[in-house]
Amino acid sequence: KLHNMVQELKGNIRVFCRVRPVLPSDSDEEANMAFPDKREHKEIVLSSSSESAMGQERKEVYNFGFDKVFEPSASQAEVFEEISQLAQSCTDGYNVCIFAYGQTGSGKSFTMEGGPTEETAGMIPRAVDQYNETINDLLGAHDFDKKKHEIKHDPKTGATRVTDINVVPLHSASQVRSLLGVAQKRRSVAATMMNERSSRSHSVFTLRIRGVCGAEQCEGSLNLVDLAGSERLNVSFANGAEKERVRETQAINKSLSALGDVIAALGEKGAAGVGAEGKHIPYRNSKLTYLLQNSLSGNSKTLMFLNLSPLAAHLNESLTSLRFATKVN
Ligand code: ADP
Repeated sequence: KLHNMVQELKGNIRVFCRVRPVLPSDSDEEANMAFPDKREHKEIVLSSSSESAMGQERKEVYNFGFDKVFEPSASQAEVFEEISQLAQSCTDGYNVCIFAYGQTGSGKSFTMEGGPTEETAGMIPRAVDQYNETINDLLGAHDFDKKKHEIKHDPKTGATRVTDINVVPLHSASQVRSLLGVAQKRRSVAATMMNERSSRSHSVFTLRIRGVCGAEQCEGSLNLVDLAGSERLNVSFANGAEKERVRETQAINKSLSALGDVIAALGEKGAAGVGAEGKHIPYRNSKLTYLLQNSLSGNSKTLMFLNLSPLAAHLNESLTSLRFATKVN
């Protein structure tokens, strides 16, 4: 009961932090990260040391708190255990959004999609398997052709739809998984065609779930969003071809900060106890938030994974990500 009240006060927004393990292919040294809260796993501490002009060692310590912090050793199963109830609540008519935010290489796709084995399977296949018995319908929201897709929002019904998109009704978890495989392949093919990496695009996977709420049918949704990499580029050195990448990065950063603004505004609304109409939520500032408007308002629950690289070379990006997350938490 108390937990529910706390959740209500926080406007149903949670932020989890996950640090990936050091990989055999990593050549950089490890950053200094500590996880002092061994009971509740809510804290992460980063420290860096530098030498001052006077030759003295200066140590800086940065402390951050989250709803949950996963150390590099956390398994996919352990992470899913923490989100399975949230994912399940879309069968009670809730709209659930789960985002993965972080720089390229920090483990977003691993968290969301995961690897090919049962042990390494990520949140999407695990969530899909959870619905084996109850799943009815799926919106396969990916299609990389040359059609121009627009997002239409009907203010009367609150429904959001994307024009010219494939909607595929599915009846089993294995059908969902194979469609997901097709979507992943298309995403990387589209990225190659556009001469970029898939980490430069947002991927939105939406499951529409019909459930029974009391005596009535209700519809909820589960949105699993693998965001584009949050890393910044050094604009001052850009020339020629790099300019295009700078523009692209600026667009990504704009949509990521628009997402941060929306989640922060939703959190404030909850904290102040103001009704849904009482506060302006800037959904229209990016396509991403406009698309997810319906799932980020009213009957919604939002979870942000903050993925971090464990490497010292990425410490500054990690701190930028942590500060972004503190804003929305
Ligand atoms: P991103 O999607 O943020 O660009 P990836 O998910 O591709 O990052 O992760 C980068 C690399 O690290 C991949 O090789 C991935 O398999 C590996 N990796 C990420 N998280 C883990 C983890 N928890 N355990 C093992 N390997 C991981």
